[in-house]
Amino acid sequence: MAGESPGCIFCRRSCLDGGQNLYVRGCHICRDCEKKIVAIAIDDPVYRIYMKKLKKIWTQAG
Ligand SMILES: [Zn+2]
Repeated sequence: MAGESPGCIFCRRSCLDGGQNLYVRGCHICRDCEKKIVAIAIDDPVYRIYMKKLKKIWTQAG
């Protein structure tokens, strides 16, 4: 959304002071959430929630 302040798409934490962050199509993923994503088991229900969010980003126009 236009005017939305940049922050982690998962925890909404500001990533600007976090150093290195994943940057996907204009959306930030902070280091903590990046770690969580790679550590999550595929059969974990949380994994599906995260993937849903990621999918939304990937399919976003722009
Ligand atoms: Zn985060």
